[in-house]
Amino acid sequence: MPFESSTPRQVHIVGGGPVGLMLAALLQTMGDYSIRLYEKRSPYTRTRMVKLDTYLVADTVESYCIDYIDEENVEAVFDRADLEEGVASRQSIAPDLRSLLLEWTLGFCPLNAIEQALSDLIDQRGTHSVERVAGDLTAQDALAIVGPDDILIDCTGSRSLLRDHISPAFGGVGGEANLFKVRLEYTLVITFLYSQTYVCDEYCKYYKNAENDSYKFIPAVHRTFYDQGVSHVTGIVNITEAEYQAMPSRFDSAWLRSNFPGVTLSMDRFIDRIKHETGGEILGELEIVRIPLDLYHARNVTSRKWHALDSADHPLASSPAFLAGDSAIGSPYFQSISLGFECAMFLAGLIGQQDLPLREKFDRYENFMYKQWLRVYMRSKMIKHNKDLFETLDDTFALLEKLHIY
Ligand SMILES: Cc1cc2nc3c(=O)[nH]c(=O)nc-3n(C[C@H](O)[C@H](O)[C@H](O)COP(=O)(O)OP(=O)(O)OC[C@H]3O[C@@H](n4cnc5c(N)ncnc54)[C@H](O)[C@@H]3O)c2cc1C
Repeated sequence: MPFESSTPRQVHIVGGGPVGLMLAALLQTMGDYSIRLYEKRSPYTRTRMVKLDTYLVADTVESYCIDYIDEENVEAVFDRADLEEGVASRQSIAPDLRSLLLEWTLGFCPLNAIEQALSDLIDQRGTHSVERVAGDLTAQDALAIVGPDDILIDCTGSRSLLRDHISPAFGGVGGEANLFKVRLEYTLVITFLYSQTYVCDEYCKYYKNAENDSYKFIPAVHRTFYDQGVSHVTGIVNITEAEYQAMPSRFDSAWLRSNFPGVTLSMDRFIDRIKHETGGEILGELEIVRIPLDLYHARNVTSRKWHALDSADHPLASSPAFLAGDSAIGSPYFQSISLGFECAMFLAGLIGQQDLPLREKFDRYENFMYKQWLRVYMRSKMIKHNKDLFETLDDTFALLEKLHIY
């Protein structure tokens, strides 16, 4: 099948989580697209709080690169022209969507508030170009709904529906999975709201853990986006695989106290020190989930290999498909949604370039996503390495074992 240059107008987005909704909202204002958004959940109820990165709303290359961990990595991986183009594309985001992004980057906000606001925005615009389809699609359903030249975008999250179908090498039985994954660690993610403004740097993380030889509570602290006086604290506690297996996926502090008193002791010491310093109180209950922290990417994020097969008898030979959001790349340490949103912005911009040949769209998206992968891989490994060193700072021999110099 030759690569055609005309842009298909029907777009099927499977998965209406934050990234699918963002893509729909971006394409909606670009005109000329009829969008079908398929989602199995209703309504949006996920309670977890998430943090969006300010690079999403950067208006200069300098402010885009400001992150202290990966500033140099970004400059090493991306050309200046890539960065300038990315910043320029942010200026063309519709003002209603941009103002939501500006609000969300102020601090931690509930994931369902992001999903609901995007969903409401799409409906309130009244363009009638986005059709919602409720249902739990199988991969076969997704491949059957695309007509020739329709665009299919998989935004179904970390358990992607189409990751193993997007490329011929991975489609067959026993084919190699289209996934590279590293398990960084098993963790407890402990979250609470605190009634005072509380700022935490590396000294704070160290001294508040002074008596915690194990189960150090390592927080990410930021104000919440809706109330600047309230701090949102998400602490990560490293656990073993056996401990992970012995826990339910979600539980409260009473369960933790009865079953893992060592973790409770460490967390209580940390929280007591915060209270002693700032005189505040925890608002509501602690939320505790246990999750493996995985860093992964799909080796192919487009169907370009199906397209390259002349007359292949497969829907993706004539209909371009893309992976976006957690379907394509997953990263722990509060980075994934920002990465997913940035990829959505890039993909929407590519789809909107009507005159760009499809081959070039495929290549540019693959290239962009590979650079994003390099960036997030380096960043995540650096964070993990720093965390590992931090956990053994007072044990010289354990620390030395983690250092490999040359
Ligand atoms: C405890 C926790 C804390 C986190 N904190 C942060 C944070 O602070 N910052 C951050 O950036 N990220 C954070 N993340 C990660 C973040 O939640 C994900 O990166 C983000 O939700 C991914 O968005 P997505 O739209 O790609 O996928 P998802 O959010 O997984 O959405 C996928 C959507 O597709 C739908 N779907 C799936 N399969 C089908 C199907 N077959 N048919 C129809 N619909 C389907 C699902 O119902 C869902 O709505 C956190 C994750 C966890 C678990």
